[in-house]
Amino acid sequence: MIAMTIHVLSPDVADKIAAGEVVERPASVVKELIENSLDAGATDLRIEIRGGGKRLLRVIDNGHGIPVAEADLVFRRHATSKLQTADELERISTLGFRGEALAAISAVSKTTLVTRTEEEPVGTELRLEGSEVVGRRAIGTPPGTSLTVEHLFWNTPARLKFLRTEATEAGRISKIITRYALAYPHVRFSYLSEGRISFQSPGSGDRRETLLKVYGPESARQMLAIEVSQDPVAPDISVSGFVSEPSLHRANRSYIELFVNKRLIQDRNLTFAVIQAYHTLLPGGRFPLAAIFIDMDPTQVDVNVHPTKAEVRFREASLVFRAVQRAVHRTLYAQAPIAGLQPEGGASDREDWAARRQVLVQAGRAEDAAAQLAMNLERQEPGNSVQLVGSEASVPAAPPVSRPATDALPPLRPVGQIAAAYLIAEGPTGLYLIDQHAAHERILYEKLVAGREHPIAKQQLLEPLTIELGSRLAGLVAEHLPILQQSGFEIESFGSGSFLLRAVPSVLGRQDPQRLLEEVAEQLVERDDLVGKAMEDELVKIICKRLAIKAGQVLSVVEQRELLRQLEACDNPRTCPHGRPTTLHMSASQLERQFGRT
Ligand code: ADP
Ligand code: MG
Repeated sequence: MIAMTIHVLSPDVADKIAAGEVVERPASVVKELIENSLDAGATDLRIEIRGGGKRLLRVIDNGHGIPVAEADLVFRRHATSKLQTADELERISTLGFRGEALAAISAVSKTTLVTRTEEEPVGTELRLEGSEVVGRRAIGTPPGTSLTVEHLFWNTPARLKFLRTEATEAGRISKIITRYALAYPHVRFSYLSEGRISFQSPGSGDRRETLLKVYGPESARQMLAIEVSQDPVAPDISVSGFVSEPSLHRANRSYIELFVNKRLIQDRNLTFAVIQAYHTLLPGGRFPLAAIFIDMDPTQVDVNVHPTKAEVRFREASLVFRAVQRAVHRTLYAQAPIAGLQPEGGASDREDWAARRQVLVQAGRAEDAAAQLAMNLERQEPGNSVQLVGSEASVPAAPPVSRPATDALPPLRPVGQIAAAYLIAEGPTGLYLIDQHAAHERILYEKLVAGREHPIAKQQLLEPLTIELGSRLAGLVAEHLPILQQSGFEIESFGSGSFLLRAVPSVLGRQDPQRLLEEVAEQLVERDDLVGKAMEDELVKIICKRLAIKAGQVLSVVEQRELLRQLEACDNPRTCPHGRPTTLHMSASQLERQFGRT
């Protein structure tokens, strides 16, 4: 690509360009800088951040650079080399076109530009603080451009306040980088946070290789390549990329990535088109993973409708919808690893598939349940049982009311289990029904909150297990390691999204710890409105919910007794951490009344 001369847009062109806030947070700066590097034809991008990008962000590229004579211009509003006339807005082929980003970024940070073109012998260094040039010199540097943005929002404290923790901001940056790496498999992206490599794409041109780096081996293996074929109705729209097998799904739709002409976009309708192609294949409330690349005639899509260019408008949205939906559907039916499926079959085929899946899902559950059963509930420590005997003896005769005055539970004798979900127990004042899942959630929650005194029992693994998480989830897990450790996971960070696991909570049984950590992190992603203590508490609840025995699990008498003992020992045994009841009580007098004995 050849550097075009840079000029200031005439006001009438500038006015046609939707203005807007470009810089919201460190990740939006990274996005703009990456787009500039890609527009400059770079094949090697190095992104460095410190302090979650709040302290420092740097993008270094090997693109065509900026001529000395034009270096000043790049920071001027509406200065761009990518377009001259309003007509050209109709067929944008570059990621940038408004000439706004560098102006906006330099206005709210301390920015340093170092750049050189192939043709010029020396490069230029320009330093700006809040749009003012404060330093300029000739500098020896390889061809390409480096932009360093330090102390973002130093002069706009109100905006600084809105930023999240360093880990959260770093996670958003990582997401932007990995998505662009997927869109540009020929470009090598290296991402360093706090001086450590946290992501690197191969830059080999092989999208599957990049996928492996972005999603981690476990998930990447379950991604199907979209079969590229011409859609009869929309022959000019090409859809390619990857979608997850029905066995791989997530708790929210944020794993559906869409690119139009290699630009990362958001589009509710197209996201829905992907989800709809999975109709009946996924359990309720679960969503597929997808990276969908739509390539089409640039005159058929308007990229100039959104301040950060995150949304586009299609001239014929329904055609694009259809093309995406068909491509995903075709891929699922042709490749999903379940035998005997007809492509694009009628309702009966679909029912057939749904029925088969149901069987598979149930088989999976039964296996889980069996595995968990093999692991007993956590054993009570001897010291505790002695205490319990004592407290049992000292329990006063409870008053004959259906709701005892205190929250404490009396000693309960297990009678049996019904529906593999509830325990029936007898207490001094009548009958109790206990929801086994809710009760276990409560028990785990109090152990976790109480922390050291009653730690959650853990089981050492025979060999440490390496867990690979995609960079986005890895950041979240790393941020919350202490809580995971308290929960019985002996886990340490290994760098580049890898963790070493030496022990797991005993209640986990034979469940896959990688899957569990992924699920926990995903649910955290959804709650990124929470901060500090609230976030920690949410994490604890998520872990408890996930570790607690499920409905559907048959418990032996020993296990029933153990569960009741531990529930009795809780400070707030009557509700689960989410506030639902764990126990229902029917008093002896209620029973008598109901049976007409009084
Ligand atoms: P836009 O990308 O919309 O043109 P920007 O403010 O992002 O606006 O950039 C202004 C101009 O600076 C670009 O048009 C381009 O000429 C030049 N520029 C910015 N970053 C780079 C880079 N990494 N390599 C080469 N030129 C760049
Ligand atoms: Mg730009």
